[in-house]
Amino acid sequence: MRPTLRTVLNLSGTVLHTNLGRALLPEASIEAMCRVARHASNLEYDIVRGQRGERDVHIERQLCNLTGAEAAMVVNNNAAALLLVLNTLANRREVPTSRGELIEIGGSFRLPEIMARSGCHLCEVGTTNRTHLDDYAQALGPRTGVVLKAHTSNYSIEGFTASVHHQSLARVCHEHGVPLLVDLGSGALIDLPRYGLPHEATVAQVVADGADLVTFSGDKLLGGPQAGIIVGRAKLISRIRRNPLQRALRLDKLRLSALSALLRLYADQDRVVSRLPTLRLLLRSRDDIRSMAKRLCPVVQHTLKQNARVSVVDCESEIGSGSAPTGRIPSAGLAIRPGGQRIARAFRQLSTPVIGRLLKGAFILDLRCLDDEGGFVSLIKELRFSQPRDTSLRAEQG
Ligand SMILES: *Cc1c(COP(=O)(O)O)cnc(C)c1O
Repeated sequence: MRPTLRTVLNLSGTVLHTNLGRALLPEASIEAMCRVARHASNLEYDIVRGQRGERDVHIERQLCNLTGAEAAMVVNNNAAALLLVLNTLANRREVPTSRGELIEIGGSFRLPEIMARSGCHLCEVGTTNRTHLDDYAQALGPRTGVVLKAHTSNYSIEGFTASVHHQSLARVCHEHGVPLLVDLGSGALIDLPRYGLPHEATVAQVVADGADLVTFSGDKLLGGPQAGIIVGRAKLISRIRRNPLQRALRLDKLRLSALSALLRLYADQDRVVSRLPTLRLLLRSRDDIRSMAKRLCPVVQHTLKQNARVSVVDCESEIGSGSAPTGRIPSAGLAIRPGGQRIARAFRQLSTPVIGRLLKGAFILDLRCLDDEGGFVSLIKELRFSQPRDTSLRAEQG
């Protein structure tokens, strides 16, 4: 009778972990979801005029204010956003895209496949390491539906490289009367370097650079529920809204309410980082985390007894989910060895499973995302080791 979908402690060091549910929602979003879950709402009802209304009104004005775009809409996730935009603007038409940006984000999201399912013909431009403005210019023609620029979310190309900036690409697209679509992936609304985090262009910057449409996820750096957000020119957004697929990809009332509450928090830029759990965790300092590791080290050692040795280590967290793929954030945690695999299994068997990572035979717990220190201490009292200590240690050495 135990539910299969359970809460876990994400001590993997990847803050936005796709397998572990990505962003943690702020209280305001959770309360908003409870309210609309319990009561009827004006989800698609215009209270002033007493008529049918639009779902997107609950997020559109806020998204426009935050990004400088003319219009905005939301769908199920960013993959859906891309599918919908490409199908609306480029069904049976060409979509020039750099060979350096044909991304795969986990097995189920491969850009060329999404394009094919959207009815578009991918028109590869440039090479893997170098794409120039002229490559795009030569690909533009009467059959072009939209030009796509995708964020290279989980890799970087280094060495002898060249890519085209949004701004110059937008200019060339507009000279040919073709819209520019930018898939930003994570889509930050705040200036990350201001808080000491790796650089990511904000949605507002990309809109200001001339992108006609920008798509990004709700549950990555934004810190909200799973959603795909599309912002850009009003004319294009209204065409996208009329696509029959929109109905199949739309957002439900729970997530819409969570997203709307989240965007309200962004209006107060000074306080947003303390109110959004995901941003707050990303901004914790290594010193803070290391102090916690020092307090917990003897407690964990006491619980593990002779089964393993625990030490405090410096480590590096990553944002995850395709944000700043090469950027690392200084963090700290506990290293438990020997027998990393066996220790990892024991931590996964706790009533709230603890997920760490394995590194060179050690089990590493990055403590960046540990909020409830006391809860962790009582939780690990349940630790049990399946095999007797001697045999497992011997197996490990063998
Ligand atoms: C994560 C990502 C996606 C997919 O977004 P989902 O919200 O997971 O559907 C698409 N494009 C890029 C560049 C991404 O980083």
